[in-house]
Amino acid sequence: MLRSNQLQSTRINPPIPGPQFEATSSYKTYDPAVYGNGPLQLGFQGYVTDSTTGFVRACEAANIPIVNDLNSGNGVGVKLGTATLDARLRRSSSYDSFYKQAAGRSNLNVLNQAPVTSINTEAISDAHNGTQAKATGVNFVDQSTSLVHKVTARKEVIVSLGAFHSPQLLMLSVRTLFSLHGSENDANLSRASDRRKSSKSLPLSLL
Ligand SMILES: Cc1cc2nc3c(=O)[nH]c(=O)nc-3n(C[C@H](O)[C@H](O)[C@H](O)COP(=O)(O)OP(=O)(O)OC[C@H]3O[C@@H](n4cnc5c(N)ncnc54)[C@H](O)[C@@H]3O)c2cc1C
Repeated sequence: MLRSNQLQSTRINPPIPGPQFEATSSYKTYDPAVYGNGPLQLGFQGYVTDSTTGFVRACEAANIPIVNDLNSGNGVGVKLGTATLDARLRRSSSYDSFYKQAAGRSNLNVLNQAPVTSINTEAISDAHNGTQAKATGVNFVDQSTSLVHKVTARKEVIVSLGAFHSPQLLMLSVRTLFSLHGSENDANLSRASDRRKSSKSLPLSLL
């Protein structure tokens, strides 16, 4: 499923040839089979510093594997990574790639300047899991009017606020619920906290 989404949504731009890029071209490898003809473009950065290339060479000398393509499912080793770049090395953004083609859909509303302040939850209990929080909607502030709005989800709430804000909002929202319903579910809070901690390791594109 993931592979089929990747094929549908991405397109790879081969490395740009040229004298200034030749020194690093041997590490700009990719597997064309893992990309399709989709809207999100990937490419290799143009100029690569000598120190970056030197680092990769040092790793190779130390028998650290050189990865052929980071997006093929085996990323253990060293690689000059790709970025979301078009053929002119300009940013290929999710706005251009995905939003623009979906903007006219009647079931899509994107609100700007409208930060979510909390996920609304209700407590559900069963003998096996104890008390759990079920998301029912969100509150957000319309910053153009300062009015706070409450929206209710018919099916689900998808949290995609990024690596730091997602766990922060989850912790704040679940804390509010359990402050109303007692503290027996501290385990839920520590799970959200663990997820936040596990996201502090940021990938270096060099590695
Ligand atoms: C400088 C830089 C360059 C990068 N280049 C690449 C690249 O070329 N290729 C690549 O694959 N990856 C790249 N990455 C990594 C990539 O951007 C991230 O991995 C990816 O964007 C994470 O997506 P996300 O949806 O989890 O979070 P994000 O893209 O961070 O999206 C979270 C969104 O939630 C919004 N938000 C936060 N809090 C709230 C709130 N309370 N209410 C409402 N909205 C909120 C934020 O404004 C943001 O728009 C780069 C990262 C950086 C910092």
